[in-house]
Amino acid sequence: MSIDYGNDIYEEPIVAKTFLSEDSNENSLRPHTLKEYIGQEKAKENLSIFIEAARRRTESLDHVLLHGPPGLGKTTLAGIIAQEMGVNIRITSGPAIEKPGDLAALLTNLSENDILFVDEIHRLNRSVEEILYPAMEDYAIDIIIGKGPSANSIRLDLPKFTLIGATTRAGSLSAPLRDRFGVTLRLELYTPQELAQIVRRSAGILNAPIEDDGAMEIARRSRGTPRIANRMLRRVRDFAQVKADGVITREVADSALRALEIDYLGLDPVDRRMLRAIIENYGGGPVGLDTLAATIGEESVTLEDVYEPYLMQIGFLTRTPRGRCVTRKAYEHLHMDYIGQEQLQL
Ligand code: ADP
Repeated sequence: MSIDYGNDIYEEPIVAKTFLSEDSNENSLRPHTLKEYIGQEKAKENLSIFIEAARRRTESLDHVLLHGPPGLGKTTLAGIIAQEMGVNIRITSGPAIEKPGDLAALLTNLSENDILFVDEIHRLNRSVEEILYPAMEDYAIDIIIGKGPSANSIRLDLPKFTLIGATTRAGSLSAPLRDRFGVTLRLELYTPQELAQIVRRSAGILNAPIEDDGAMEIARRSRGTPRIANRMLRRVRDFAQVKADGVITREVADSALRALEIDYLGLDPVDRRMLRAIIENYGGGPVGLDTLAATIGEESVTLEDVYEPYLMQIGFLTRTPRGRCVTRKAYEHLHMDYIGQEQLQL
C-alpha cells in the first residue's frame, strides 16, 4: 500500500471549516468531564461555579452562550455541562431549525432541566428566534391555532430547560437574543503546551505510539485548535505506519506535515495565498475582506472565521477600519521584501 501525501488521497485541507469525513469518529476523542477538558481555564472555572450553584439549588443552569472560532471545543463543552449536571442534551444547529414549528417541537419534547444545544445560533432565522425569546425568559411558547380572524393564540408551558448556544461570531447575534443568555463564555485559541497534552491524550485513545517531541511538533503546527491537532495526528499516524516504524517522533511529524504543505508555524497554502495576495496586489493592505476573498477565490466567512483568528494571534495580520493589513513579521516569514508605510513616504 502506498500513500501519496502530495496529491488526491488527502485532498481535503486540514484547516477546512467543514466537517471532514475523518471527523466522524471525533466523538471517541471528546473528553467527558471538566477535569479531562484541557485548557480554557477561565471558562472552566466560571462554569464549575455555575454548575455547582445550580446543582445545590437543584435548578436548571442559566442559559449559556459559547463563542469562539470553530474546533475549539464548544460542542464538547456543552456535552460536558450536560454530563456534570446529570441531564440529557439535545443537539441541533441554527440552519437545521427552519420553521418556528421545528423549534416548538424540539422545546416541547424536552424534560425538566434538559439542555438544548444550538450550534451556529447566529444562523437562526428571525421567525424562529422570536419563539426563543419567551421560551428562554418565561419557559413558555405562544402557538397560533387556526387562520385569519378565527386564529387563536394559546400559551404552552415548557419544562425549565437550559439553552446552550454556540457561535463563531458573537457580533452577529441580535441584541435581544444575546441579552437573554445569563452566562457568556469566550473560548480562546490553545497554547502549544495545551495542544501537546490534547495530542498525547488522543494518541493514547487511538493507540498510536508518540514521543513528547512528536506531540509538540503537531501542537505547534495546529494553529491553536484541537480539531486541527486531532486531524493532523491521524494523518501523521498514517505516515508513521507507512514510512517509519509506527512511532510518531518529531522527525516523522515534521516530514508528514511538510508533505501536507503545512509549514513550521502551521500555515497552509490558503494562509500563504492570502498573505501574498495582500502584499502583491494591495501593497500590504489595507484591503477589504470581500475584495480579498474574491481575489483568492475563497469565501469571506471562511477567511474571517477560520483563517484570520490565528493569523492575527501570531501577529501576521491586523484588522483596521479600512481593511486587512499584513505586518512586517508576515513579510519576513514569506521571505518577501518589506516596504513599510514609513519607507513609502520617503
Ligand atoms: P466546536 O464545537 O467548537 O467546533 P468541538 O467541540 O467539536 O469544537 O471540538 C473538536 C474536537 O476537538 C473534539 O473532537 C474534541 O475531541 C477536541 N477538543 C476540543 N476541545 C478540547 C479540549 N479542551 N480538550 C481535549 N480535546 C478537545
